[in-house]
Amino acid sequence: MKKLGIILSIIFLGMVLFQIFVLSPEKYNEKDLYESILERGKIRVGINADSKPFGFYDKDWKLTGYDVDLAHNIAKYILKDPNAVEFHPVTPRNRMLKVSTGDVDIVIATMTITPQRQEVIDFSIPYDYAGQALLIRANSKITSIADLAGQRVGVVFGTTAEKNMQLLMPTATIVGFRNYRVAYEALKKGKIDALTSDDTIISTFAYEDKSVKILPKRYSKEPYGIAMRKGKTTKKLKENIDFAINDMKQRNVINRMRKKWGLS
Ligand code: GLU
Repeated sequence: MKKLGIILSIIFLGMVLFQIFVLSPEKYNEKDLYESILERGKIRVGINADSKPFGFYDKDWKLTGYDVDLAHNIAKYILKDPNAVEFHPVTPRNRMLKVSTGDVDIVIATMTITPQRQEVIDFSIPYDYAGQALLIRANSKITSIADLAGQRVGVVFGTTAEKNMQLLMPTATIVGFRNYRVAYEALKKGKIDALTSDDTIISTFAYEDKSVKILPKRYSKEPYGIAMRKGKTTKKLKENIDFAINDMKQRNVINRMRKKWGLS
């Protein structure tokens, strides 16, 4: 009986190792990710799909935006082909997991570089900056974060704003949403009193819809980085991405993208 148990355990362990090293080598082994991307001829990019103007579907259901343009540029640097990209929609809540497990090679999704996140994943150098702001209904009496005591404040799950809000105004009732669209609709319907996130994202709502407005104060500095798996398998990839970002900054490519998407 004991012998059978040992044999079954060995078979089980063998199956697990087979799955890890043979069936999913890119996901689990120590292969250099930059080399894998070159071999595959495509880079798999996690992107926000409901975050205008960074990643969203246009009227023809084409994925577009600043982060989408950035992904095409990264593909141009790494694979010499701007179209060698495979987009995978991610959310602020699942993107860390997707990049750590190897479902995507990198995440370009208005993702703030924070020390807590850096314990789990790696980031490129910053490619842009945002600040946490408040979006309210245009007829609201709220003028600053101090007026949010006892009020309902919407956040998108997994964002830095969700964490910051708990520190900035602990007496506010924080209401979490899975994406920006539903949070914005809740604000319009009066289900929440304010929505908080990066100014770069929520100012689009105020720009397109005069029944909401953004307050002038910013409550954080949010450097945006391209996220990748932590460790030595992404060292070369990070070097190449950092080089690309620096080069794009010097050649004004980033500035032109900011202008194109209404950020400057
Ligand atoms: N920059 C914020 C963060 O990283 C918000 C990003 C987002 O909603 O995707 O949490």
